[in-house]
Amino acid sequence: MGENNGDDLAHRVLSDIKAPSDLGLLRCVQCGLCTSVCPASRHSDYDARNIIKRVLDNDESIIEDEIIWNCFYCYTCYSVCPVGNSVCIVNQIIRQMAIEEDVGKRKIESFMSFADSYIEEGLGVIPKEYHGQLHIDYGKHWTNLQEQLQDVRKDLGLDDMYLLPEAKETVDKTLEAIGFKKRVKEVKKVRDRMDEVE
Ligand code: SF4
Ligand code: SF4
Repeated sequence: MGENNGDDLAHRVLSDIKAPSDLGLLRCVQCGLCTSVCPASRHSDYDARNIIKRVLDNDESIIEDEIIWNCFYCYTCYSVCPVGNSVCIVNQIIRQMAIEEDVGKRKIESFMSFADSYIEEGLGVIPKEYHGQLHIDYGKHWTNLQEQLQDVRKDLGLDDMYLLPEAKETVDKTLEAIGFKKRVKEVKKVRDRMDEVE
């Protein structure tokens, strides 16, 4: 394992706001129990134990490694770890580090339609560009419902807006204050640069 000089990757993870104060990262004994129960480890090259090993080895290359995106945050690893470590939380923090860089922004740019729906509607609405796939997944009843939705809302006495104007304004101010809009712009900038290169 690498030296813990306070500025290494493990300590940066531990000092992140997402890390619980009792996170057992430095107590990891590499027993591999996390890997044995991890669905991502079973079905891909991902290895939960190895994620922790690389963090403890101060292997910065993990931030740019595609493998970190295979975890899907089920938290099963946390439930079995004998020392109270959570690969899941460590992975979330590493991904956030990646998102601070272009490499992570590129990974999340396809979700910007959801981000737009929060900004425009005040809540997460399924973007229209996904409707085609959802029709395939859920069938014609789902599509019919989407097509009839505005009529149904009208019958129920609801207007076109999903949120009351004052609620929407509160969401809007919150998204501004927490830097959400700024971050969406940054991700889109990277996406635009990608489009120019292609
Ligand atoms: S279960 Fe916990 S102690 Fe064991 S390898 Fe995974 S993170 Fe480390
Ligand atoms: S949270 Fe991630 S690392 Fe933990 S068990 Fe689930 S998929 Fe594996």
